[in-house]
Amino acid sequence: MSRPHFWDADGKRYIDYIGSWGPMILGHLDAQVLAAVQTALTRGFSFGTPTEAEIEMAEEICKLVPSIEQVRLVSSGTEATMSALRLARGFTGRHRIIKFAGCYHGHADSLLIKAGSGLLSFGQPTSAGVPEAIAQHTTVLEYNNLAQLSETFASIGEEIAAVIVEPIAGNMNLVRGTPEFLRMLRELCTQHGALLIFDEVMSGFRVALGGAQALYGITPDLSCLGKIIGGGMPAAAFGGRRDIMAHLAPLGAVYQAGTLAGNPLAVAAGLATLKRLQAPNFYDQLEARTARLTAGLTQAAHEAGMTFSTDHVGGMFGLYFAAHRPTCLAEVSRSNLDNFKPFFHHMLAAGVYFAPSAYEAGFVSITHDDTVIDATLAAARMTFSALQR
Ligand code: PLP
Repeated sequence: MSRPHFWDADGKRYIDYIGSWGPMILGHLDAQVLAAVQTALTRGFSFGTPTEAEIEMAEEICKLVPSIEQVRLVSSGTEATMSALRLARGFTGRHRIIKFAGCYHGHADSLLIKAGSGLLSFGQPTSAGVPEAIAQHTTVLEYNNLAQLSETFASIGEEIAAVIVEPIAGNMNLVRGTPEFLRMLRELCTQHGALLIFDEVMSGFRVALGGAQALYGITPDLSCLGKIIGGGMPAAAFGGRRDIMAHLAPLGAVYQAGTLAGNPLAVAAGLATLKRLQAPNFYDQLEARTARLTAGLTQAAHEAGMTFSTDHVGGMFGLYFAAHRPTCLAEVSRSNLDNFKPFFHHMLAAGVYFAPSAYEAGFVSITHDDTVIDATLAAARMTFSALQR
């Protein structure tokens, strides 16, 4: 029943490579997730007090992401990052936050500064409505720039409450953090008493079962999760070291709450999704499907004589009208963005739904089988040769 398609209002079918911007790793309408939500529906929608399933979900997250010793559920990725920052500030007694250009961490004021995703598509990296008094506490650095990072810590290291980073960025197209960059982040944060927050709202359960932190072998102090953990329903989480989490209310002085956090329907969808992801070879299969797509697209583009490259990690991919994979936002901006627009529209007309911006990553689900990917590649061959004319 589960599928990689959706239909528009005119009944036209699309192969979906956005998957609700990441959550739909099992495709649309996975039978087990649907059954879990249907069962939960019959028991009541929301109680405002923890349910057993919420506790089971928390235990599952702590088991799968070992850096998370304690976790709190919230309803969106924005709430997760916003609450993690407040906790980091409350824990360290410091105000300054470091983020990286092109990383998007949701729409909390402190984080809407040189952010990626939709803001970049509108050519406006910093949102209107963010007071200068808030923005001044956020320092924005270049992703993967080791020299700039160490200089910043040398000059203001003792002011920094936290560094928040997408370890594999997916909001400026797909851009991997280099292992050296992430290792240096870990070391500098430890040396200077700042907290390292991995925003794995997108990469969590997407690039590997244990997220990017498992792939790199780096332990953040706090992690933010979302998207996949709600299985398409509004659920997200933040968590990490127990001694830090102890500063959250009601035990500690850092306030955080949410009427619908841990909502039974969202938890049912999330828990059923997390169980499905633990099937043997799930991630090998997902990765093979993504690799088939990116290799096929690269070949089709090169056959048409286009400058084009791709990258992928697990079920997440990047497409670049550039000779090489980018390492930071400036490099993504230097790719041939003029080629992206006709590519997107040709593919859409052919029934393939990629993200409508060169600053977004794409997502493959476990339902994108060979037939689906081959249909995508056939559309891509026609598209690339049309672009060359
Ligand atoms: N962090 C990252 C890395 C994201 O990709 C997103 C959303 O795209 C968010 C945070 C915000 O999540 P939400 O849209 O659920 O508020």
